[in-house]
Amino acid sequence: MTRPYKLSALEGKVIAIDGPAGSGKSTTAKMVAARLGFTYLDTGAMYRAVALFAIENDISPEDARALEAIAPRLVIEFKTEEEINRVFLNGRDVTEAIRSPEVTSAVSPVSAHAGVREAMVARQREIARKGNVVAEGRDTTSVVFPEADIKVYLDASLKERARRRLIDFSRQGIDSTLEEQMALLAKRDEFDSSRSNSPLTRTGDSILIDTTNLNIEEQVDKIIKLITVRLMKK
Ligand code: C5P
Repeated sequence: MTRPYKLSALEGKVIAIDGPAGSGKSTTAKMVAARLGFTYLDTGAMYRAVALFAIENDISPEDARALEAIAPRLVIEFKTEEEINRVFLNGRDVTEAIRSPEVTSAVSPVSAHAGVREAMVARQREIARKGNVVAEGRDTTSVVFPEADIKVYLDASLKERARRRLIDFSRQGIDSTLEEQMALLAKRDEFDSSRSNSPLTRTGDSILIDTTNLNIEEQVDKIIKLITVRLMKK
């Protein structure tokens, strides 16, 4: 009996997922990568690492010159340890530190500088050189991997995204309210979508998945189905 799906067809492929904060990108991309045996590339974590460096070294998030000079010299690496995707900045584990509210506030202005983006995009392409990658962020479908084999744009209502953020923060022991998270997300969305360098945008060839009423398993299943139908069907 012949198998209806060709596993080898996945070899070297790149799956790119973009969307606003709280749309479920990270968890979904991580799980899709695990299901396919692919590398998970969290591009937002890289900008967060640059923002952390700025905070720790008293560099203003607005200081383009300083940040553009330093970004190409930062060593940002990912290592999977006990199924957790850990992020290292110049050899130091910053996995938890890059999720702080301070970093979250600083990251959008930091990531808007052209030279910072150039350095991060070069590193992202290097990580994905051989394919077999699920990348997620704001510009992975538009700028980093315009030739990606599957492009997905995840979205959800502002309220639902804020609700999810609130749960994330409460797990970290950080107090907040739905209203506060809605305001912070709206501000970050506006900043990320209106900047001149690689704004968050849905490309014409990205498949839109609205996750407002979906749970993570449903989101993952939808993307796996897309991959199966588009790439693996004989
Ligand atoms: O996805 P996450 O919330 O960790 O991303 C943090 C921030 O990094 C975003 O709000 C955005 O400003 C920036 N970012 C970006 N381009 C990407 C990924 C993230 O500008 N590809």
